[in-house]
Amino acid sequence: MMPIYLYNTLTRQKDIFKPLKDKRITLYTCGPTVYSYAHIGNLRTYVFEDLLKRVLMFNGFKVKHLMNITDVGHLTSDADTGEDKIEKEAQKEKKTAWEIAEFYTKAFFDDIKKLNIIKPTLVKKATNFIKEDIELIKALEKNGFTYRTSDGIYFDTSKLKDYGKLTGMDFKTLNQTLKAGSRVEFSLEKKNITDFSLWKFSPKNAKRQMEWESPWGIGFPGWHIECATLNLKFLAQAFRGKQLVPEKAQTIDIHCGGIDHIPIHHTNEIAQVEAVTKKPFVNFWLHGAFLTIKEGRMGKSEGNVVLLNDLIKQGFSPLSYRYFLSTAHYRTPLDFSFEALKSAQESLNNLYEFVYNLLWDLKYNKNKKNIKTNKKLLNEYHLKWLNAINDDLNIPRALSILWQLINDYNTKSKEFNPKDVYQLILKWDQVFGLDLKRIKIIKTTQKVKKLLKEREKFRRDKNFQKADEIRNQLKEMGYLIEDTHFGTKIKPLSFIQYDEYYSSR
Ligand code: AMP
Ligand code: ZN
Repeated sequence: MMPIYLYNTLTRQKDIFKPLKDKRITLYTCGPTVYSYAHIGNLRTYVFEDLLKRVLMFNGFKVKHLMNITDVGHLTSDADTGEDKIEKEAQKEKKTAWEIAEFYTKAFFDDIKKLNIIKPTLVKKATNFIKEDIELIKALEKNGFTYRTSDGIYFDTSKLKDYGKLTGMDFKTLNQTLKAGSRVEFSLEKKNITDFSLWKFSPKNAKRQMEWESPWGIGFPGWHIECATLNLKFLAQAFRGKQLVPEKAQTIDIHCGGIDHIPIHHTNEIAQVEAVTKKPFVNFWLHGAFLTIKEGRMGKSEGNVVLLNDLIKQGFSPLSYRYFLSTAHYRTPLDFSFEALKSAQESLNNLYEFVYNLLWDLKYNKNKKNIKTNKKLLNEYHLKWLNAINDDLNIPRALSILWQLINDYNTKSKEFNPKDVYQLILKWDQVFGLDLKRIKIIKTTQKVKKLLKEREKFRRDKNFQKADEIRNQLKEMGYLIEDTHFGTKIKPLSFIQYDEYYSSR
């Protein structure tokens, strides 16, 4: 088996990935805060995580993938100040917080389905595990990591020996860096700027929709605790029923998110878990870079978001966006523009067309379908490709290898049987996720068949003007005609809107 290298934020280098236990990998990815539609920047992170999962699966691993749904506790500032994003949206839309969460959770899953992202094995809503959150906070309290302020129970980050290790900074430098950063406000009652809320009290003067009883008072969990709780419960197996048994906790193989989560959210997940289990929480941490727009981060607070539905409304297919994302490595910032997306869509269309041509050759091209493939050459291609995907998910390189193969197929006419190339490309698509298998030779209606026959006759009679008229007529109907040595090839005008050839014709 070829080794898989992954860049581990914790070690700051590419390490060989080895599962902690047999072939079943535990993978946690932080899910959406469901107070609005995910923007295409958020979706970049979910596509990166999907590619990671597909690479692991391609290498023969089973992946137990857990994702949370943040439906409570994420405040407008990552530093425990401001309003709860979901409660705020509920007021704005005049709905309940629960309705908001349900609506945007559904919208999120619609989006990821359109992007051909494999659904996680387990999806868990934060609000369903408040009792477990309380158990975890109690264990932290018992171990001496908590203190109380007027607005909640806080984690004292100075008490944990290696707090902040994910950032590569020591405690003092991390505190200074966060203080200098404009995004983090410092509440006077906090002992250290890095301290974070575990449990927030409901405000005295206003009633929250989402609140629960706890040993410390009515309130709601802090944002970071849900991921710690869910990891401990479903992946680390540290709960017996609702009872936390920290010494039973197992280390998790991989945890991912966007790079913005390194200094606060993921750092705090580590702190909470390791303060009770006293063992490493996660073996590999992977982080995806931002999608930018005009070089600046795409984000809701930046006011520059684009949604997947905006792309669809402008005639782009979600998989063209997936293709666009695949052209950059996940650790490199990627700048979004409609021009760049347009060229990605053209490339994807060409790729679909190539798959179509393969199927056509297989069926009708006598020269091609009888070739014995140069297996050595094809295998070299596969090894190069595998090397790319296993080299810290180098999907752009894997894509360029695919295009080299396409070029070779088109130019080295004696080397490849279309069937073998088709099979290999479909296998590769288990990782790319571009749904290449949807391409089938189109079925022609009686009307089209009749027109093709008439055109053939005009051609035989050398009446090229009439033949061209029929070609134009077919074009208007959405078909392209190409005359080959092996008869007339008919194909759709666009492979992007290609499904319509089945649904409406
Ligand atoms: P949120 O719903 O705000 O918790 O964000 C969901 C995910 O999207 C997180 O993993 C973020 O790190 C990630 N994210 C946010 N903005 C961007 C962006 N512009 N590009 C890529 N990922 C992002
Ligand atoms: Zn998380």
